[in-house]
Amino acid sequence: MDLGISGRKAIVCAASKGLGRGCAEALAAAGVGLVINARGAEALEATAAAIRDRYDVAVTAVAADITTPEGRAAVVAAGPAPDILVTNAGGPPPGLWSDWSRDDFIRALDANMLTPIALMQAVLPAMMERGWGRVVNITSQSVRAPIPTLGLSNAARTGLTGFVAGTSRQVAGKGVTINNLLPGIHDTDRAEALDGPVMRAEGISRDEARARRAKGIPAGRYGTPAEFGAACAFLCSVHAGFIVGQNILLDGGATNVTM
Ligand code: NAP
Repeated sequence: MDLGISGRKAIVCAASKGLGRGCAEALAAAGVGLVINARGAEALEATAAAIRDRYDVAVTAVAADITTPEGRAAVVAAGPAPDILVTNAGGPPPGLWSDWSRDDFIRALDANMLTPIALMQAVLPAMMERGWGRVVNITSQSVRAPIPTLGLSNAARTGLTGFVAGTSRQVAGKGVTINNLLPGIHDTDRAEALDGPVMRAEGISRDEARARRAKGIPAGRYGTPAEFGAACAFLCSVHAGFIVGQNILLDGGATNVTM
């Protein structure tokens, strides 16, 4: 399918690996020029070079912490007035409801709620003026069904979801869509990091921990960054202009809900 976005420009945050990279690659495959971001310059530059080589699109790499005002300013300055924005950042650490202080909550809100909101505020006016734009926020399945050990994520991402629910309906009339993609368990370093504590607590191997988690997924496996990226690219395509303010689960059926 021709996604109809060749020649468009995108900012993809937190994209040197994992789901962000999956989105960047799928957009590049559709002919979209990229600004990609992550904190670690070496991995980011390697990803930028690989995408340039493979898809023959322009890729600018901005090594910065997207959760800081300076980081966001650098990213937006490198790709002003993008047609497409994919927001993403690392997820908060696991723990229990009784563990977290106010500062922990502020950090999680900054990273997973206020950062995507600030980025949207920076790029939406130009998208609306041009009459076309696509925003995809990478959130989590925890928005639909809370994950007990990820209370910081449950809280921060639900706040972002509320903001998107209202804002997406205010900008849709200008040809701009905002939607959220909700990953379930995907085969990335983040999944690996979350498997680690289970392995240690229960004295089981990595393969056992993965097999146990995969068993809870009707699809019987972890998702891949490529599948995730393809869904993101479709939401950014010309075909998705009537999809507004949705929260789309990509979880292999793991969230046991009817709607
Ligand atoms: P990942 O494989 O660990 O990749 C994270 C990417 O984000 C890396 O490129 C990392 O590079 C970059 N990054 C992290 N913090 C950043 C920051 N402050 N500023 C800029 N870049 C940053 O993680 P992932 O699995 O793709 O997860 C992406 C998001 O989806 C996370 O919020 C995660 O919680 C959420 N999620 C993932 C899953 C899953 O199963 N994978 C499930 C539900 C939700 P640097 O470290 O160099 O900055």
